[in-house]
Amino acid sequence: MPIFEFACNDCGFIFSSLISNADKDKVQCPECKSGNIKQLLSMFNTGKNKAVNYSSSCNDCAARTRG
Ligand SMILES: [Zn+2]
Repeated sequence: MPIFEFACNDCGFIFSSLISNADKDKVQCPECKSGNIKQLLSMFNTGKNKAVNYSSSCNDCAARTRG
């Protein structure tokens, strides 16, 4: 299964999940359990987009968006 990366629209938490295409709609934010998330284009487009830290759980950008 591919790894998808998501951002929570409610709390701003960014996370990645190893899920099938069919399960993308069911993903929940691990922080606040919200289903209000958006998929990020990650892994495959890293050359274009600026700088999200994919190496780990990205605590840094999660903290930044949360304040
Ligand atoms: Zn959340």
